[in-house]
Amino acid sequence: MELSIERNDGCMRKIMAGLIPFAVILLAWMTASQAASFNDAVNSVMLVLPFVIAILSIFMSIWYKNSRFFFLTVFILLSYIILKIASSKEAMLIEAVTEISILIPINMIWLAFINERGIITSYGANKAILIGLQFVWVLINILRKSDDLTSGMLSPDHAMAIPAPAIILYILAIGFLLINYILKGQYIYVVFISVLITTYISLHFAHRPVILAVFTGSVFIVVVSALFEVSYSLAFYDTLTGVLSRRAFEQELDRLGKQYCIAMVDIDHFKRVNDTYGHDVGDEVLKMVASILNKISYRARTFRYGGEEFAIIFQGQRMSEVMALLERVRKAVERRPFIIRSDSRPEKKPEKITGYSGGKGRINVTVSIGVAQKTESLKTALDVVKKADEALYRAKSGGRNRVSK
Ligand code: GH3
Ligand code: MG
Ligand code: MG
Repeated sequence: MELSIERNDGCMRKIMAGLIPFAVILLAWMTASQAASFNDAVNSVMLVLPFVIAILSIFMSIWYKNSRFFFLTVFILLSYIILKIASSKEAMLIEAVTEISILIPINMIWLAFINERGIITSYGANKAILIGLQFVWVLINILRKSDDLTSGMLSPDHAMAIPAPAIILYILAIGFLLINYILKGQYIYVVFISVLITTYISLHFAHRPVILAVFTGSVFIVVVSALFEVSYSLAFYDTLTGVLSRRAFEQELDRLGKQYCIAMVDIDHFKRVNDTYGHDVGDEVLKMVASILNKISYRARTFRYGGEEFAIIFQGQRMSEVMALLERVRKAVERRPFIIRSDSRPEKKPEKITGYSGGKGRINVTVSIGVAQKTESLKTALDVVKKADEALYRAKSGGRNRVSK
């Protein structure tokens, strides 16, 4: 029987996180629409806000060693400063909007796909130089327009015109990021899409300082919230397998209700997989098992307990239902063939081992599972974990590839 592919709550959180940037844009829009009625005090707060949030974003991205968000922030901040410098004269502002509107989509696509290679490294320095040169060039072009005596100030009633090539670049960039988001489901693409939407709007209002500040500030708010999301994921998700982490498990144990079951899952003879095929293949096997465990049911939550051991919490479920689910899981792992790609096959032909009768690059993986239910006699969740561990031990000593309670 195939396991039902149901989404667990990690997915819900991802959707929520993906909505944050658009909620921020909406809020910025609502704030900007009130801009005409702001008094001087509010106006001056609005004007410094982008700088404050940008500094926060820069510090956080250095702290988390996130060069993507660091350079994104720096780029948008420099664009903002250039637009402010240019705002004293219509000709200068038009020039600035023209150039920046072309540079932003190109640079955002570049930054969305760079490899994480640090900020204060030679890679970081190269990126900084590349970005710096662009702004020096823009600045020179703007200053050349400064002696244009015919130009005055722009009327606030008109929106700035964004040149057609820039509009096309924006559309292409957003489309490209959207396709990547659909294919890979990574939150980072949503962040970049929202940055493009926000900067496009802010360029339209580049001649209205408060509106420009509100939308630029919202870019930085999105980046800061994305940095929080990244740090949350680092703490609560296992980076190798993508399931919840040991830390998340321990936190979850403190808030379980009256009725639940905990299962401990351990891969059989996993050391042999590592020894025979190497650590990389071992990692792939771990991922494969984790992905099966992660799709048990929407009421089950899978955690990487440590090494090749996983813990599953079944909230509000009885032993009989849980046993049936786990038996399906055990069979699903047993039946899923793990084919080794030729490039990761060892030089030496692997010796045949029971449980891992591979030969033609095929490993048969099995798991042993121990499960325990919360009862009156088990006072704490840790007692339930301990009992599940004992059951796992029985499953191992009973011959492996089985579920014990
Ligand atoms: P048993 O059936 O009794 O569980 O035997 P086993 O070999 O699975 O158990 P053992 O505890 O002896 O070995 C666990 C191995 O798991 C040892 C360690 O090298 C490997 N391991 C732990 N974490 C990882 C990991 O993240 N990646 C890889 N590739 N191997 C890991
Ligand atoms: Mg183990
Ligand atoms: Mg094991």
